[in-house]
Amino acid sequence: MSYDPQPAASHHVSGEYLEDAGGEALPVIYPATGEEIARLHMATPEVIDRAFTAAEAAQRDWARLPGVERGRVLRRAADLIRARNRELSELETRDTGKPLQETLVADATSAADALEYFGGLAATLTGEHIPLGADWAYTIREPLGVCVGLGAWNYPTQIAAWKAAPALACGNAMVFKPSETTPLCALKLAEILTEAGAPAGLFNVVQGAGAVGEALVTDPRAAKVSLTGSARTGKHVYALAARGMKHVTMELGGKSPLVIFDDADVENAVSAAINGNFYSSGQICSNGTRVFVQKGIEAAFLARLTARMSSGIVMGDPLDEATNIGPLVSERQMGQVLGFIDRAKKGGARLVIGGARADRPGWFVEPAVFTDVTDGMEIAREEVFGPVMSVLTFEDEAEAVTRANATEYGLAAGVFTADLARAHRVVSAFRAGTCWINTYNLTPVEMPFGGVKASGLGRENARAAIEHYSQLKSVYVAMGGVDAPF
Ligand code: NDP
Repeated sequence: MSYDPQPAASHHVSGEYLEDAGGEALPVIYPATGEEIARLHMATPEVIDRAFTAAEAAQRDWARLPGVERGRVLRRAADLIRARNRELSELETRDTGKPLQETLVADATSAADALEYFGGLAATLTGEHIPLGADWAYTIREPLGVCVGLGAWNYPTQIAAWKAAPALACGNAMVFKPSETTPLCALKLAEILTEAGAPAGLFNVVQGAGAVGEALVTDPRAAKVSLTGSARTGKHVYALAARGMKHVTMELGGKSPLVIFDDADVENAVSAAINGNFYSSGQICSNGTRVFVQKGIEAAFLARLTARMSSGIVMGDPLDEATNIGPLVSERQMGQVLGFIDRAKKGGARLVIGGARADRPGWFVEPAVFTDVTDGMEIAREEVFGPVMSVLTFEDEAEAVTRANATEYGLAAGVFTADLARAHRVVSAFRAGTCWINTYNLTPVEMPFGGVKASGLGRENARAAIEHYSQLKSVYVAMGGVDAPF
């Protein structure tokens, strides 16, 4: 069975689909053909109000449940997702254009991992006992209340679950707004959570663009905002949240370095560079788009990279499991990527392979590799968010680290070398939140994920996320009398 891309209604509020045709129309386009596959409506102020009202009511009772019961709901949702992985993956492919080959293993499954992990953790969330001589104190770990989630369009299912799972495990409710470009799969998560036993109103999905996002962020009932998006939007949303003294998690963009030393295994380094630049047609925040290659290995690296790209790329219908390169998410995104490629060529970078719009319907761009890239070029400074790799060369470790860190971003970084002492030294010098040694872009739920500098703050996944969806209440307990000066 596959899902009809046209959902029963645009929003999922209080455990049910909800429509308000008064909202602006929201067409959903299949990026591989440019065809409209569904039509939704953006949330009106009434829909937003209903979502917050439902979330507030659900949260009070949910927070009172024992953690083991909350966890059971999340784990049941994880099982339902795994059982429907193919249908969910096909819908994600229609929504984003990402190859089914990828969505089958990286989207719904990643959501299930998050629900399973935080479902398991829910029963372990406690405060602590603090001995103070005759007296003592204890802390109570409390939920924040209603959390707002705002998602980007590259991993719609994963982003919704990476926010919902820790939020709900801690006893919060959520109002989630997917990107207007990819509104379909968050609705399925809401459906599945409801089926798994989540009380009506615990996880609500409302559709819309930036204005709806702003209405959610500024609603006085929102205690926390978790955004996955661009640094530009992040700065704006962080400032809005600050006015209400709200908690925030900001998962923003990057321009991450992948540093490859002479002694690295060339085949593995090429694999990592391919994964870290072309998976999801390059639309991944943590991609290692500045590939720093040490002089001695440059020729071998480029030879293998271009050979593997020439023979291995299968661009085509993303619903065909043989396809490994799909379209970009939208015509607008394709235009932006082609603009970066054009300016890089004019600016003196050398395009060694790819870089053209594919001669077929939809928003396909051939994966591109630039050499002769210098640190000051736009292509080496700005996030392209498309299948574009920049190869830069370096002489020694100190130079590589300095140049790798010379960016406003700090989401991720990777190093390839056979010398493990050097690998750890380089990683400790990287100014980035998530690092890899001899691999790239693996983000298991057990490992905290997030950035520093303009790439954001807070961490998703792992126990670290609990700190961002709960707060501590401290209680001092006097066991004797009270002394006073008079
Ligand atoms: P945007 O920043 O454009 O949007 C992110 C979300 O915020 C969307 O839901 C968007 O709505 C919403 N939004 C936009 N403006 C406002 C506003 N003024 N107030 C409240 N909400 C608003 O990002 P994209 O969707 O274009 O995603 C690409 C970006 O996301 C890239 O920069 C990428 O690096 C980053 N990203 C970061 C990740 C991380 O974990 N660090 C992971 C994935 C992506 P709408 O889209 O409907 O306009």
